[in-house]
Amino acid sequence: MKRSLLQQGLIDITSKLIAFNTVTPFGNETTCAPYISKLLKELNMKVKVLAKKKNRANVIGEIGSGKKSLVIACHMDTVEFGKGWKITDPLKPAIKNGRIYGRGAVDDKGPFAVAYCAVKKFIQKHPAFDGKIYLVAMADEEDDNIYGAKFLLQKGFKADAGLMIDGGYLNSFDYGEKGCIQIKIESFGKQEHSGLQEHGQNAVENLIDLISILKNDLKFEKFDKRFTPLHLNTSLITGGEMANSIPAYAFGQMDIRFPLGISSKEVIGKIEMLVKSTSGTNKKFKISILYATEPHVVESHELITSFKKAAKMINLPMKAITIGGNSVAKEFTQAGIPSIVHVPASVYTAHEPDEYISIKEMGTSVKLYVAFFEKYFTTK
Ligand SMILES: [Zn+2]
Repeated sequence: MKRSLLQQGLIDITSKLIAFNTVTPFGNETTCAPYISKLLKELNMKVKVLAKKKNRANVIGEIGSGKKSLVIACHMDTVEFGKGWKITDPLKPAIKNGRIYGRGAVDDKGPFAVAYCAVKKFIQKHPAFDGKIYLVAMADEEDDNIYGAKFLLQKGFKADAGLMIDGGYLNSFDYGEKGCIQIKIESFGKQEHSGLQEHGQNAVENLIDLISILKNDLKFEKFDKRFTPLHLNTSLITGGEMANSIPAYAFGQMDIRFPLGISSKEVIGKIEMLVKSTSGTNKKFKISILYATEPHVVESHELITSFKKAAKMINLPMKAITIGGNSVAKEFTQAGIPSIVHVPASVYTAHEPDEYISIKEMGTSVKLYVAFFEKYFTTK
């Protein structure tokens, strides 16, 4: 099949990027930063490379002189290869069945190629557009964003709105994300022979009782109905040593996703209350908060209306959704840059063996983003 110039460009950039080993936690985004800088310079963008740590580069391209600005962000790091690759090796891009295969194909190297080609097309069509575009290739998204998004925002990076091309699906974009709390609960009992249960205190059973109380009673009636209710997931449970002993110690970890309208403080407060009312002389617990974020939503904003209009213009069905996951859009939105998340793929094979992206859907998304830039920059 003959390929268009655009398709060839998308394939070339994605394949080049896949071949750089940027597996987290090392990242080594510096290996592909020069290639990305070169691409951005070809569009006459002003290019800055910023790194908190020597090998963790972020590349920022900037073009335009108007007041209104938009940041389009992707990330260069990938998750590890894992096992089970059949089509190709993770670092050897392969073109098959109209798809590009390789680690990072859809998360997030292919999406960068789409973003790049869309910006290129938009600039060619509107060389004197009234605004400013930042095209950013970040480090450290698959880990903690410490060397990537968080670092750039701490450095004072600013824009009026953002499109994060990383996560979700072709026919939906995420404009809000739940808050997340991860906790550890330790249960302390008293060890005893299993035959003498009247003297022991069973830490495992006490923990199980507490978890079922949390499952049933950690609920909030009032919250923003654009989100699903709070959900608690017991993700880890450990305790006990042998069948004939009453266990003296057990611990569990829980991940709680909660909607807008509730704060992490309220959730933690209610957990503490439930733990306190469950505790007694035979039941002792300790809670530690491991991680906490707040829920966020981008309220009606020209970013959203422009994105919806653009999809309509190219006849692409598009739904606005809220999700339980946390993406860099939370970091950007909470730093004053309202941001939505979209990915140029209807099947999301991120982090899987034989990760791929459809070349046709990449082309569709280039059209979508060009239309989006046009809507966004002509809206006053
Ligand atoms: Zn990603």
